[in-house]
Amino acid sequence: METCKGTKIFDGIAIGSIFYYKKHENNVERKRVEDIEAEITRYENAKKKAIEQLNALHEKAVVEVGEINAQILEVHAMMLEDDDYNDSIHNLIKNQGINAECAVATTGDNFSEMFANMDDEYFKARSVDVKDISERVINVLGGGHGADELKEPCIIAAEDLAPSETVQMDKTKLLAFVTRHGSTNSHTAILARTMSIPALIKVDIKEEWNHKTAIVDGYTGTLIIDPDADTLISYREKQKRDEEQKQLLLDLKGKETVTKSGQKVHLYANIGNVSDLGAVLQNDAAGIGLFRSEFLYLGKSTFPTEEEQFSAYKQVAETMAGKRVIFRTLDIGADKQADYFQLGNEENPAMGYRAIRICLNEPEIFKTQLRAMLRASNYGKIAIMYPMITSLDEIRDIKKIMTEVKEELSTLGVPYDDVEQGIMIETPAAAMISDLLAKEVDFFSIGTNDLTQYTLAVDRQNNRLDRFYNPHHEAVLRMIRMVVENAHKEGIWAGICGELGADMSLTDTFLKMGVDELSVSPGLILPLRKKIRDAE
Ligand code: PEP
Ligand code: MG
Repeated sequence: METCKGTKIFDGIAIGSIFYYKKHENNVERKRVEDIEAEITRYENAKKKAIEQLNALHEKAVVEVGEINAQILEVHAMMLEDDDYNDSIHNLIKNQGINAECAVATTGDNFSEMFANMDDEYFKARSVDVKDISERVINVLGGGHGADELKEPCIIAAEDLAPSETVQMDKTKLLAFVTRHGSTNSHTAILARTMSIPALIKVDIKEEWNHKTAIVDGYTGTLIIDPDADTLISYREKQKRDEEQKQLLLDLKGKETVTKSGQKVHLYANIGNVSDLGAVLQNDAAGIGLFRSEFLYLGKSTFPTEEEQFSAYKQVAETMAGKRVIFRTLDIGADKQADYFQLGNEENPAMGYRAIRICLNEPEIFKTQLRAMLRASNYGKIAIMYPMITSLDEIRDIKKIMTEVKEELSTLGVPYDDVEQGIMIETPAAAMISDLLAKEVDFFSIGTNDLTQYTLAVDRQNNRLDRFYNPHHEAVLRMIRMVVENAHKEGIWAGICGELGADMSLTDTFLKMGVDELSVSPGLILPLRKKIRDAE
């Protein structure tokens, strides 16, 4: 039995087998090989395995997102069989006597560049795909196991996890996350909270733990590898007590979120995927306060189409059956990267080219999303919210684009509703001019995760700064108070959708401030409802 400590991200107990998630290193080493035939066989075996992975993913995707959207995986499998691609790899191994990884990487780069330089848009788009398939083969060659291979429910142990990786994982197979890197405010941490699964960061993980039985104790931040029989029994009992507690909270389903003195709060859920809807319903959220739409863009090799987006938004709107659903427009950039956006490296990505800045610079991407959202308004009660706002000019530009999109839809005879439009208050600039912004929009939703990072000048991704990342800082709390007051002066509502909204040590403070809405991870809705119902 081996015990180690980490920083806890989400409460709970998980017991299961560890899956050591190993991603390949991007920098492929060039090595000389003696046995050319053996190297070619190594490549052929890796290719075969990559095709098997793609076929399995394709089957899964057909069920989850439909045949049309799953087609890209079939195309990837076919590309791996392409004669020119394979000839190039075989020739490099034979003629230059180099390792398969290097031959695949070189071929991938060459083909990708060739596609990128073509005039035809279809071939241009294949540039990213050929890189993708090459990386998959290199990953297999390096003994890496993709998390899309999860077969049994397991505890994922990884050095680090990017949102683009977690988004590809089969959520029904995840018992817990344990990582070496990452910060408490990263999007992977938020994902663990959304899924209500225990998670730890800053754990000194080891590859040799792969497939070993382990216990993750999200209450104390402990990971136990190969637990002895007594420890297992005692943790199974703890897990059972947890379940019983959860059952007690279920009695609050269907009850109002109101204090003893009658102050009502809209208690909504934060989600990033259609697959989170089950948790929203189970936990009886009164609506969805934040749908992080960027997750539809992550883990893909090309932009999601309008139809693909529409089908997701429609499903959310329909499932919520008339309850308010707030879709946040694309908030890509910083830690949420998708290669095909080609955002490039930035010195300071959190303050870089991201979110609404990309949308205003590339209106076609924005318009596609707005069209899909407006079309979905026909199937439920939806609202649209814009991230990373800093100025009135941005609102003016957004409104102009929105008017164009509405006109286009009207011309085509496509029905849509006049949806509520709100903004995230997550920059100090937006908080400071919230009196002016309140005249322009229908609601505010305070993003305390980013508001804290920008107010305190503390990068939320940097785990060395966790002790300085203090959302309880008076500067942050004053801004929240000011934003709520300014909203109410203009007769609009203000909520909190950042992680601080679920911080029960501040619930009384938020109630006193008059916060109208709190949007939190689905698993925290019922505990927070209890807290509010117990408040005076
Ligand atoms: C926030 O910044 O508080 C927020 C809710 O947005 P995200 O965490 O997705 O940046
Ligand atoms: Mg944010």
